[in-house]
Amino acid sequence: MGGRPGVFLGAGFVTVRATSRGAQRTSLEGTRAEVLICGASFAGLAVARELAESGASVLVIDRYEIGERQTSACACPTLWLEALGLGQSIQQELPYMSFTTPSGSVRYRLPWSWSSFDYRELCQLLWSQCSDARFETATVEALGARGADGAIEVITDRGSISAPLVVDALGWRRVLSSPHYQPPKAPLSRGLEVHPEHDGSGDALDIWIERSLVRRGYGWRVPAGGEARIGVGSYAPTTHVKEPTVALAERLGSDAIGYQGNWFPHRLRSGTESGVFFVGDSAGHCFPLSGEGIRTAFYFGIACGRELSAVLEGRSDRASALAAYERFNKAHKRPFAIALALQRLIPAMPPRLLTAVLTLIGKQRIVDYAFGWYLNQAAPQFADQLAPSTGAAVGDGLALAGASR
Ligand SMILES: Cc1cc2nc3c(=O)[nH]c(=O)nc-3n(C[C@H](O)[C@H](O)[C@H](O)COP(=O)(O)OP(=O)(O)OC[C@H]3O[C@@H](n4cnc5c(N)ncnc54)[C@H](O)[C@@H]3O)c2cc1C
Repeated sequence: MGGRPGVFLGAGFVTVRATSRGAQRTSLEGTRAEVLICGASFAGLAVARELAESGASVLVIDRYEIGERQTSACACPTLWLEALGLGQSIQQELPYMSFTTPSGSVRYRLPWSWSSFDYRELCQLLWSQCSDARFETATVEALGARGADGAIEVITDRGSISAPLVVDALGWRRVLSSPHYQPPKAPLSRGLEVHPEHDGSGDALDIWIERSLVRRGYGWRVPAGGEARIGVGSYAPTTHVKEPTVALAERLGSDAIGYQGNWFPHRLRSGTESGVFFVGDSAGHCFPLSGEGIRTAFYFGIACGRELSAVLEGRSDRASALAAYERFNKAHKRPFAIALALQRLIPAMPPRLLTAVLTLIGKQRIVDYAFGWYLNQAAPQFADQLAPSTGAAVGDGLALAGASR
């Protein structure tokens, strides 16, 4: 705590209990922290990293150890990995993208590159930047009651933990919300991939848009050094993706081994609810159409972390921070709506027309513009910007990010 006051909630100050150690670790009942971050993947770790200089008691919890369970194909714009000091985790840089339809293939040289990375290493690198934050494995079950001092209780399988500032970075289910998001009715896509061995060749992130493979969705191959990540995503949660994933792997002469799948959201959700901050997939921060959610988890995680810092430093209170973060979230409605409209349009296009459009877009000038616009919706420069002094200034981050190209 370094002599700082507790977190001001508008209603009073909260004292923080020392970390339990040794045998006490078996139960977390009654544990208190200034900030409780639920979820230790891209979004949760990005929030914790932003609080590294705060001196606050930050507790991060996840049902698995940090980096234990890979949650994606792990492809992210290289610029973002570099901006966060995560370059060491890069396995293969991919400056190109190819798109294949039943009528042909196009190949684009992007104005920026993708990089595939090692999930465990990336998470550990992020965690090493989180300073004194503490980590515990615990499965989050639900949101509990609000304490008389305004602290929020989170119920886990190891007991109840409370904090005045709580973040749900638990992924698509949005566990701290009620009701949770549940397929098949919720606006969710589903993806499955296999991880066969690979010879390290290739310079492109390959995409297949073929209705015979998946009616509304796409297939991908992400070369990642010694392995390839080959998978299929469906925008329709009722469509099974195992068969097309196996078919795509076979077509590419690869073994269908090392399965990994999950749901991912394709609609922006509210960034706050019941006093809790939602970040990453729990707030629907995964882009529709592309299903890209790592960069946005970093981006919104940083924005959330900056709001929490303002509270911890006494420049804001929880209510103002929640309001500012929600404003920031809502300011991104348009690009998410555009991507969702394209997600509906593209699978409905006749293959020949789609190929013609992809060829037209393939002119370098248009590729640069379109992919530059896309990157700017969560630009890497955002990671470098100084933390704003008030919640309102965080909202300005969008303009700065958007103006960066
Ligand atoms: C097959 C597939 C491939 C993908 N490939 C890419 C890609 O290449 N690039 C890209 O940008 N996006 C990709 N995505 C999307 C991307 O995975 C997500 O958008 C991203 O992981 C969101 O990050 P997050 O931190 O919000 O959530 P997650 O990464 O899902 O992390 C949630 C964390 O919460 C923990 N957790 C969940 N429930 C509980 C609970 N009850 N108690 C405790 N802990 C819990 C989990 O263990 C996990 O650590 C892919 C998705 C899928 C399904």
